[in-house]
Amino acid sequence: MQSYAASNNLPPTRMEIGFTPMVLNTGSQLIMFDTGNGAARRPQRGLLKEAIMMAGYKPEQVDIVVLSHFHPDHIGGLMEGGAPLFPNARYVTNAAEYDFWTPESKLTGGTARVAKLAQSNVVPVANKMTMLKAGDSVVTGVDAVAAAGHTPGHTAFHIESEGKRLLFIADACNHYIMSMQKPDWHVRFDMDKEGAAATRKKLLGMAAADGIPIAGYHMPFPAVGYVEAMSGGGYRYNAVSYQLSL
Ligand SMILES: [Zn+2]
Repeated sequence: MQSYAASNNLPPTRMEIGFTPMVLNTGSQLIMFDTGNGAARRPQRGLLKEAIMMAGYKPEQVDIVVLSHFHPDHIGGLMEGGAPLFPNARYVTNAAEYDFWTPESKLTGGTARVAKLAQSNVVPVANKMTMLKAGDSVVTGVDAVAAAGHTPGHTAFHIESEGKRLLFIADACNHYIMSMQKPDWHVRFDMDKEGAAATRKKLLGMAAADGIPIAGYHMPFPAVGYVEAMSGGGYRYNAVSYQLSL
């Protein structure tokens, strides 16, 4: 793996990954996909409020917050000083994810860190939360896609509007070269290594076959790109910089 990194002009033993929550403006609803690291990783990370304002919105305007899964870099930004950052939002997540992390039994052992954060950040807004499963819609044109493996309820979302499509793959890929070109390689953050690899290949295969751009939470900013099948079962990531806005 280290030589593979070096051959791709990457440092062999260290990597930088981005964190890119996504805002979707449907014209009538503002939908936030994941919420970043929150206060725990400031000042370098966890600046979602500032980022939203730079994008031209206010947290109060967000109608729906979609959680792809409950890892801290996705639910950390839900609360700000003990109160929801998005005071007017309702929430959507996969029932399997909620049911995995929220039982009291998960508060000890290897699941403790995430489960505790789920208690402080997710459980308080559960009364405003819709639980969905793969195939269900968040709103018309935004559909949940089965993507378990990274976590038990990890979920991707297919977005379609006026014939244009986008696949939010969340954490199905953790790196734009390693995860794409070697989708079978195990990833430390994937709870079910084989399941995550199967999900990775399914989503990348779909995006490549249909020419759908993907939004990948940990891809280099702005975290949108196309994928292209390579010989040998891997995929090449072609980052989008301006192509979609022309
Ligand atoms: Zn993540």
